[in-house]
Amino acid sequence: MKFMLPVPTSLSPSRVEGFTSCPMAFRFASIERIPEPPSTHTTKGSLVHRVLELLFVNAQDRRTMADARVAFEQAVAEYRVDPELVLLRLDADAEEAFFADAWSLVEAYYRMEDPSSIREIGIELRLEAQVGSLSLRGIIDRLELDAEGRLIVTDYKTGRPPGLRYEQSRLSGVHFYSFLCEQVLGQRPAAIRLMYLRDGETITATPSEQSVRFISTRTNAVWKAVERACLTDSFQARPGGLCKSCAFQAWCPAFGGDPARAAAEAPVRFGMVPEPAPA
Ligand code: SF4
Repeated sequence: MKFMLPVPTSLSPSRVEGFTSCPMAFRFASIERIPEPPSTHTTKGSLVHRVLELLFVNAQDRRTMADARVAFEQAVAEYRVDPELVLLRLDADAEEAFFADAWSLVEAYYRMEDPSSIREIGIELRLEAQVGSLSLRGIIDRLELDAEGRLIVTDYKTGRPPGLRYEQSRLSGVHFYSFLCEQVLGQRPAAIRLMYLRDGETITATPSEQSVRFISTRTNAVWKAVERACLTDSFQARPGGLCKSCAFQAWCPAFGGDPARAAAEAPVRFGMVPEPAPA
């Protein structure tokens, strides 16, 4: 069988979800692997995740707010030289506001739970499981044990919680994590918690036999569709709510663009490589 586009051999759960939202955006990001430019929102999210990762390196009795501030300063020093922040090209005022807001999210975290009470067994834990010919990879923000010794997955969110309408679809994404835990660790988590730091809201999902089986079946179905699309280069553009924040709109056929130009033009447009010198 000859594929017109290369078929990826591994994917993150969010990429699998991405295919169902818009196959064309999936093609740009996961088949052509065109790097997307950072956004203030995503960079701030990864900075806050890094702070909490550093905090949880400490023993349970060294997770005070003052310890978090030390972790925050270290993360800030790392991000000042990281392309994820550098490419945002923030001026001094914007950068100050950026860091102030990131710190306010760390403070908000402390209003939600006491980190010294957490019995974590993994932080930024990379898990990988085979689904048919596909290797599914995910990173769990935090895996811990509850008082009964059961596994709990915690996922930090720095955006707003989904409205009721979108809550179920957001939770279907996190069931991937329970699927990965069950495959790799041989134990299904008792709960998956999404901690929305900005609003102080926690959404908890309880994985079941049925939800884990559903993930496996659905991933296989999505994967067959990806293979079919790679075979004939038939990734459909699916315009919708995601378009306004889609980095690839300039090359999207739904907006009159030419997908074939994206790989060459995107890194220049995104400021990731210098513009070529005029001939
Ligand atoms: S602009 Fe919209 S339709 Fe086009 S690739 Fe992006 S998300 Fe898909």
